[in-house]
Amino acid sequence: MLDTENAITVKNLHKSFRLPHEQHSGVKQSILGLFKRNRQKGYETQHVLKGIDFEIKKGEFFGIIGRNGSGKSTLLKTLAGIYTPDKGEVKINGSLVPFIELGVGFNPELTGRENIFLNGALLGFSKSEMQEMYNDIVVFAELEKFMDQRLKNYSSGMQVRLAFSIAIRADADILLLDEVLAVGDEAFQRKCFQYFAQLKKNKKTVILVTHSMDNVTRFCDRALMLEDGKIIEQGSVKAVAERYIQLNADDIDQKVYQGSTKPGRTVNKFADVDVFLSDKNGKQKRVFRNKPEDEVINIKATFSIKQDIAEESFCSITIKNANGEGIARFGSESIDKSEIAYKLRKGDEISLNSEIQNIFGEGDYSVAISLKSIDRSESYIDLEDKASFSVAGLGRSTGGFMLRPHNKTTIERVP
Ligand code: ADP
Repeated sequence: MLDTENAITVKNLHKSFRLPHEQHSGVKQSILGLFKRNRQKGYETQHVLKGIDFEIKKGEFFGIIGRNGSGKSTLLKTLAGIYTPDKGEVKINGSLVPFIELGVGFNPELTGRENIFLNGALLGFSKSEMQEMYNDIVVFAELEKFMDQRLKNYSSGMQVRLAFSIAIRADADILLLDEVLAVGDEAFQRKCFQYFAQLKKNKKTVILVTHSMDNVTRFCDRALMLEDGKIIEQGSVKAVAERYIQLNADDIDQKVYQGSTKPGRTVNKFADVDVFLSDKNGKQKRVFRNKPEDEVINIKATFSIKQDIAEESFCSITIKNANGEGIARFGSESIDKSEIAYKLRKGDEISLNSEIQNIFGEGDYSVAISLKSIDRSESYIDLEDKASFSVAGLGRSTGGFMLRPHNKTTIERVP
């Protein structure tokens, strides 16, 4: 393939940073340093990008994913020309606009309006071009009422919206986007995604750095995954996303279950409570994916009763989204009317088992556990954040609404 068909060609790219060995943390140390003879000088080299090779074709929507510290920002900044490579080459074929770091091209002392013109000038627009675009920019950013306020009085979310709204006006061939900057509230995010879809239609070349496998699969044609400064997977979005999910899942599973089969027993006056999360095959898990074994999420809450509970009671499992909103609930009172009432005595062990259809969107969830009297006048156990789990990928998303996943919930007394 001819090189001219590529928007970006990167060959054997290396980038390292030199970190000074000796760091003065204050004035006192600096002065002391002046008198210290033979103080150790020198640098430690941090090799951040270790031989990167890839090509992005014109009109491609390309994803870059990787865990924190893997080198994504360094790669983007090198593509943008902010960093110079130590070795290797970066060929950019076309005009490029980076939207990767907030604050570049903004002056906090100027008003929102003045910043729009300043930023526009940096992007190469004339004043009259900016005047034409001004309204669209302000409306997209939803900042109509704030244009005469100084930027330093904007929240960071407002600044991101403004910066994003300006950056996307640039009629560049290649757009570098750090998705972290494209998030605001949900409504704004949706608008950004609509915009991504439009870019895709207009055959712009877009490079999107993202943590969301949902977005990679939704928008990107191809992707690469960085790990420790190297590309460990490249090509099909699905393969790259799977690899990322796998790597993260292994990580989390290891952290959580290291040497412990009973994670986090909670000791309470009335009962000790354990929660187990497992897949269809009974394997303990904290991360569930779009895989056959993860079609259901089993949540088992066990209560070892430590003192007689006078009232008839019921127990429940509530799943909350990352905002702490309850989105699904399974309680013993709804299982079987005849079994509603439980007279719990010291020494009893009961467990509430919910086999829940995994229709959750990508994200983090927490599990709250409670044991209350039937009339709800007494709350014996109320654990807001007893356990947590994540759902990784692909192609679904859950809003703040109540989920009604198909579930089978049972309660049993352990003999
Ligand atoms: P990511 O974007 O994937 O989180 P980064 O590219 O920001 O990764 O960082 C990769 C590594 O490079 C990190 O260990 C970080 O500390 C280091 N690094 C990044 N920028 C600099 C810099 N300007 N000076 C020194 N080290 C840096």
